[in-house]
Amino acid sequence: MVDDAEFDLIIVGGGLVGASLACSLATSKLRIAVVEAVPFRSEQQPSFDDRTVALAYSSCRILETMGLWSKMDIVDGCDIKTIHISDRGHFGFARLHASDAGLQALGYVIPTRTLGAALLAGMSNAENITIFCPASVESVVMHDDSTEVVIEEAGQHRTIGARLLVAADGVHSTIREKIGITYRQRMYQQTAIVTNIETELPHQQVAYERFMPTGPLALLPMDKERCAVIWSNPADRVDEMLAWDDETFLAALQHAFGDRLGKFGKIGRRVSYPLALTEVEETIKPRLVLIGNAAHTVHPVAGQGFNLGLRDVATLAEEIVEAQRGNKDFGALDVLQRYQQRRRRDTQAVSRFTDGLIRIFSNTLMPLLVLRNASLVVVDLFPGIKKMFIRRTSGLAGRLPRLARGLRL
Ligand SMILES: Cc1cc2nc3c(=O)[nH]c(=O)nc-3n(C[C@H](O)[C@H](O)[C@H](O)COP(=O)(O)OP(=O)(O)OC[C@H]3O[C@@H](n4cnc5c(N)ncnc54)[C@H](O)[C@@H]3O)c2cc1C
Repeated sequence: MVDDAEFDLIIVGGGLVGASLACSLATSKLRIAVVEAVPFRSEQQPSFDDRTVALAYSSCRILETMGLWSKMDIVDGCDIKTIHISDRGHFGFARLHASDAGLQALGYVIPTRTLGAALLAGMSNAENITIFCPASVESVVMHDDSTEVVIEEAGQHRTIGARLLVAADGVHSTIREKIGITYRQRMYQQTAIVTNIETELPHQQVAYERFMPTGPLALLPMDKERCAVIWSNPADRVDEMLAWDDETFLAALQHAFGDRLGKFGKIGRRVSYPLALTEVEETIKPRLVLIGNAAHTVHPVAGQGFNLGLRDVATLAEEIVEAQRGNKDFGALDVLQRYQQRRRRDTQAVSRFTDGLIRIFSNTLMPLLVLRNASLVVVDLFPGIKKMFIRRTSGLAGRLPRLARGLRL
């Protein structure tokens, strides 16, 4: 443990993305402070909660290179072999198989608590990482060559300083507000209900994405017997749906999904998440970087949010380590600008792609309806298009950070 208030790097937000960044630098010589508001093992922890995340192929690779994959309890049956996309009540559908792109799996479905446990162990075992938790940020001062953060932990105020401040404090980023970084946020007027169910028929490692005018419904293979459910619905209907008894909810879910997996059985706890698109023009300022949900939030339709954040992590960690190796100041603006430039295209592409899916599939205009169904058929029939589509959604398009290529930093 570093017993000093001076660090090289301060990460505010020890959620999925912030903790991943700390772990990616666990073998560096950098002194890292992680400031997290909510205790990691508490029920209220907003990042390591009841959700599952579909990890894209490149994310699994990043976690593997970081040495975290082997530490996670990966259960049988959670690897996605096929994605089945359909437009409820219409002719179009597409199937994407891992083998279409020469992959073993299109991704893995992991409970965020499993991921959280591995990340917490990774941070706790690293000598260069100091965790302040539960702790909140009181104020931030940016100097030319450093940043100073006043935190409150167990009633005590403490000033910690570093060369670089990383805001990984989620969609309502306090750091973003305190520094005055402008952002655009559009609520989708949709809320996702997340739960899990048992199905009568085996899912055979197929992930289903079913589009409906009210919002998409995803069923993801969680283990051999269960599927994770992410069901987006109009925001004004969700309170009523959450109040339904299990039987009523299951009947509505069955009606929406159909009988492809037989009768739905036991259902888990239902939790809801309001959905928004958040875009930040500048994710950097001198001595500051925004990553993960603090920099971008997308609709969970294609399971891309954390995957995008993990690519932020892999790229930023690479830039930091490279600058440090060249005896350069990794908090200097030119280093941060290079990071921002490397991340911009991927972030924009994923935001536009997920937003486009929601707009196109919630539209009931006949020409658009025919066009989108025809597009699904085209994706299903043409191997070249399938492969391109898989590579993009698996995070394998463009210049990949070292960790995603299996290379250590
Ligand atoms: C329903 C749903 C399903 C999803 N499914 C997928 C999926 O399948 N695949 C995928 O890739 N992504 C998915 N996502 C997106 C994914 O959950 C997010 O992208 C991810 O949680 C972002 O992580 P983060 O660490 O940036 O932010 P968060 O998870 O919000 O974590 C932020 C952390 O910062 C802490 N914090 C906040 N403010 C402060 C402060 N002032 N001081 C200190 N700490 C602070 C919080 O306590 C929290 O621990 C889904 C999202 C939703 C809503």
